[in-house]
Amino acid sequence: MRETKMICTMCGKEYLGEHFRCSCGEPLEIVIEKKTAVNISWRKSGILESFSDLLPELKDFNSLSMGEGLTPLTKIEHAMTDGLELFIKNETINPTWSFKDRGSYLAVLDAINKGYKHIGTVSTGNMAASVAAYSMRAGLKTTILISDSIPEEKISPIAIYGPRILKVKGDYDRLYFKSLELGKKKNIYFANSDIPMRVEGSKTIAFEIFLQLEGRVPDFVIVPTSSGGNVRGIEKGFRELKACGLSNSIPRMIVAQALGCCPIHQAFSSNDNQIEKFAHAHTIAHAIENPFPPSGNAVLRMLKENQGITVAVNEDEILTAQRQLAKRGLFGQPASAVAFASISKLRKEIGVKRAIVVAVLTGSGLKYPAILKEQPSVVEVTDIDSLQDLL
Ligand SMILES: *Cc1c(COP(=O)(O)O)cnc(C)c1O
Ligand SMILES: [Zn+2]
Repeated sequence: MRETKMICTMCGKEYLGEHFRCSCGEPLEIVIEKKTAVNISWRKSGILESFSDLLPELKDFNSLSMGEGLTPLTKIEHAMTDGLELFIKNETINPTWSFKDRGSYLAVLDAINKGYKHIGTVSTGNMAASVAAYSMRAGLKTTILISDSIPEEKISPIAIYGPRILKVKGDYDRLYFKSLELGKKKNIYFANSDIPMRVEGSKTIAFEIFLQLEGRVPDFVIVPTSSGGNVRGIEKGFRELKACGLSNSIPRMIVAQALGCCPIHQAFSSNDNQIEKFAHAHTIAHAIENPFPPSGNAVLRMLKENQGITVAVNEDEILTAQRQLAKRGLFGQPASAVAFASISKLRKEIGVKRAIVVAVLTGSGLKYPAILKEQPSVVEVTDIDSLQDLL
């Protein structure tokens, strides 16, 4: 099998084989070799077959796939969208209920193809559950590193898959880099949030949107952003479609964050090239609460290059958006609602009219029921004999 070539997103240094990050500290990305005729198509057998021309060569010998990806693109009608053609890419129906499964699937296959016997990740949420599910399913030794401060209710949805869980005391931001370093020493494939193969998984979101819009490219794609791996992947997908001649434009990416933790938005707004650690991060959108995102600088470069923008929304706006989405039939977790909440800001701030907009609904609202106490439930009570009067 060909070795995949990788290139640093900042300094351009090239790598072959088993690397996760450039020696300069910035993320690497996989280079897809140019082919003469590229074909992508929607095949029920899965993302690997549908998009094989634009993905690294990977073999799924043991049927690891659980039907990740190939998710619906749902049109949103009604008042607040007038002038916009608005679609929701519904990632909640993935095997572990978030988009993470796309990248976990490819990363675990990559690890198996390269002969690794041990997979790990650093995460306290959807990434941990997703990597645990795929790695355990593959029968590999699985280690999840979580932070000291994680609430108990977030551990059981990871523990159910049966991985080893290690609570690590100390600076959680350092743990990302430490794990990659130890992975090299101990031959553990650390499938962290923005490693090259995870970004390849997110690319398939772009390919699907393109097929579902029947060859149209959206004007904007809104992505709730934490580590930055997903938004990088989605843009990479659109760039590759253009590079191989299937499309002639790429969307403007909108990085959506919660005001309670918005290191990328902050750096972008003050025109900095480097993110700084966000102090006192706190938001109900736990899934995007990363105060020092490992792909933060790469996302800043990407936004500058292709006219991307950032938006940040407050906690009330997130909860309102979660209800508004649910009224249209879609129940996402607060982090996912951040994308929808950004739309009204987008309208005010850059005056979008007549645009095709896709917001990515990254994960299911049922993942953390604890958060639902923030949403009011109105229940009326009656006895059976008075029921008729109430209906
Ligand atoms: C992981 C996650 C995100 C953020 O994705 P990144 O690639 O880390 O930027 C957003 N929403 C949900 C539901 C997630 O699980
Ligand atoms: Zn580099």
